[in-house]
Amino acid sequence: MGELVNATGGCLCGAVRFTIKGTSIRMAQCHCLDCQRASGTGHMSNAIFRIEDVQVTGTTASFASTADSGNVLTRHFCPTCGGRLFLYSKARPGMIVMAAGAFDDSSWFEPEIVLYTKRRPHWDITTDAVPNFEAGPPPKPKG
Ligand SMILES: [Zn+2]
Ligand SMILES: [Zn+2]
Repeated sequence: MGELVNATGGCLCGAVRFTIKGTSIRMAQCHCLDCQRASGTGHMSNAIFRIEDVQVTGTTASFASTADSGNVLTRHFCPTCGGRLFLYSKARPGMIVMAAGAFDDSSWFEPEIVLYTKRRPHWDITTDAVPNFEAGPPPKPKG
């Protein structure tokens, strides 16, 4: 687990850009209703990194909402084009959750888990080849 990622990305209009050099902590696909509403799709594909491994240039707008779990997520996006970029979870201090589709080259992305399958719309297909969870993620093993 954990992919060494050295990559760049940004929003649709290019006003916000980011660079990452670091190891991913977890890669997931999430079907929760908030991810569906925020993205306008059936799921979001996200990769978690340490904040210090990510550099962002440009100004984002953000929106905070309380997830099913009771956890507060603050989603950042470009105020001009609306492109989804990253989010912070109150439950994961020091971490940043990057939207896989925002990368210039996301070929390194490989989901390790699929979350909130109870919310998966019938028209949205994600893999059964990795562990699927009806709701939120299991606790991360220590170490
Ligand atoms: Zn933009
Ligand atoms: Zn979600």
